[in-house]
This record gives sequence, C-alpha cells and structure tokens, in this order.
Amino acid sequence: MAERAGYRSQRVLITGGASGIGAAIARRFGQEGARVAVLDRDRDALGRFANDATEGVLPLLADVAEEDSLREAFTRMDAVWGGLDVVCNNAGISIRRAFLETSLAEWEQTLRVNLTGAFLVAREAGRRMKSDGGVIINTASVSGMVGMPDYAAYNVSKAGLIELTRTLALELAPRVRVNAICPGYVLTPMQRAEYTEEQLAEQAGTLPLGRLGTPEEIAALVAYLASPDAAFITGQTLVIDGGETAGGLASAARRPDGPGERRPTTSDPRRGGGA
Ligand code: NAD
Repeated sequence: MAERAGYRSQRVLITGGASGIGAAIARRFGQEGARVAVLDRDRDALGRFANDATEGVLPLLADVAEEDSLREAFTRMDAVWGGLDVVCNNAGISIRRAFLETSLAEWEQTLRVNLTGAFLVAREAGRRMKSDGGVIINTASVSGMVGMPDYAAYNVSKAGLIELTRTLALELAPRVRVNAICPGYVLTPMQRAEYTEEQLAEQAGTLPLGRLGTPEEIAALVAYLASPDAAFITGQTLVIDGGETAGGLASAARRPDGPGERRPTTSDPRRGGGA
C-alpha cells in the first residue's frame, strides 16, 4: 500500500503525462524509483516521452474523456501491474475565449476533458484502490478558486474538480486520500501556445515572487502529497502560485514601484492559459 511502502514500490499513473507538468511529475516519480505509467492522447508526444525516459515507462495511449478508451488503458495497466497506488489526474485543456463568444462545443469540450475526464479516471482508480488503499491527486488551478476573464469554461471545470476532490476524499476515506493542487502560472507548452515570450515575461512581473513556476516545482508538491509524509492530508486544495492569490487589488495598488507593479495593458492576458 502506498502509505506504508514509500515511493519504491509505488505504481503511479499520470494522465496528460507526455507534456509539461505531467511529464515533470512522471520524471520525478521515475527518479524516486516508482513504476510509472503515462497516459496521453497525443501519440507522438507519448512516444517521444517513453523513448526519452531513462527508466522504463508504461505508455498508455488513451483519451481521458472517452470511457471505452480509458477502460482499455486501465485494463492494459492491470495486466502489467495488477493494481495501482497513485493516480495524478493531470490531463487538461484550456480555451481562451470571451464568455459571450464561447460556443457550446468549446464549453462542453473543456468540461468533458478537465472535469468528466477526471471523474472517469478517479472512478476507475478508486475501484481498484478501495481495498488496498491509494492516493489520487487532481491538478486543478488557481482559476478554479477566483474569477478570471476569458476562461469561463476552464475556470468552471477546475472549480468542479476542487469540489470533486472534497467529495471523493469523504467517500473514499480512510483507504484512499484525495487532494487537489492549484498551480498558478507555470511555463509549459500550454502557456507557450497561448502567449508570446513578452506576454509571459509580463505575467511573471505581476507575481509576488517575480517569475513563473516550473513544472518541476509542481512535481515536487505532487510527490510530497503522494508520500507517507502527507498521510494525514486529504480533501484539501494546495495552492502553488508564486503568491498570485495571496492578495487582491489592494496589494497591487500598494506596490506602485515594486516588482509586483500591475500596469493594465491591452496585451495583458490577465490569466495564463491553463493556469
Ligand atoms: P500541456 O498542454 O503541456 O500538457 C497537457 C497534456 O495533457 C498534453 O500532453 C495533452 O496531450 C494531454 N491531454 C489533453 N487532453 C487529453 C485527453 N483528453 N486525454 C489524454 N490526454 C490529454 O499542459 P500543462 O500546462 O502541463 O497542464 C497540465 C495540467 O495542469 C492541466 O490540467 C492544466 O489545466 C493544469 N494547469 C496548468 C497551469 C499552467 O500554467 N501551465 C496552471 C494551472 C493548472
């Protein structure tokens, strides 16, 4: 069982593990000596990741939002591992769109991947973990905690994931711990796809710590939550955002000359993609 055995014997599944934060989580668990399965719908990225990994990684080509595809991936994993100890529900998409311009298809697709996909993965994992125990870690976002313009579907999907976390923690206790993490701005392909280098630098300048987070820093928090050191933590939402949500508008107004100076500009994205 994950709580007692530590990393070495852990079997860890990471969804969306072929890129960005998920890939960093996979690398981190690999370094810790865990057995790692990476599930992703991007065939090329999955192949690249599995090839680059120093230790053997179990690649699972699947879409978290497609129940049949996901079931097949879990069946394959069962055949190799016979169970699992840790699931990182990390696959996600971000669509930046003004609310009034958001199509029903965009709304449904975002919720389907970010929330329904997490539900499907957690249900498959929970059924396997309920007797032997385990840990589920959901990658939510600070966008699920505060309102952010132009990301209504994304924000709602992440807010839903936070509530799913609390409810699952109650239903699956005491054998399974369930927590969510809320990253702020983290430099990944998701962010690079939406913003220019200049805009990313501008985002960094608005944060109290003056920089974007790294995928490795997020992976470190996930590794902690999966470890026996976090054995008394469940149903919680841990924020890792460089201080982004520590204050409100008043905190920005008080620092007109500091690194946290907020200058409204037309290019200011106000919210990082996927953040
Ligand atoms: P990314 O785009 O670099 O990686 C996401 C991965 O998920 C990709 O490999 C993609 O192929 C995979 N994926 C997407 N939809 C999938 C599906 N339906 N089935 C299987 N795999 C799928 O993004 P990232 O920045 O590493 O984001 C990872 C998670 O962190 C997401 O849930 C995102 O919302 C969240 N997050 C990111 C940030 C940030 O600033 N980058 C901040 C907060 C939260």
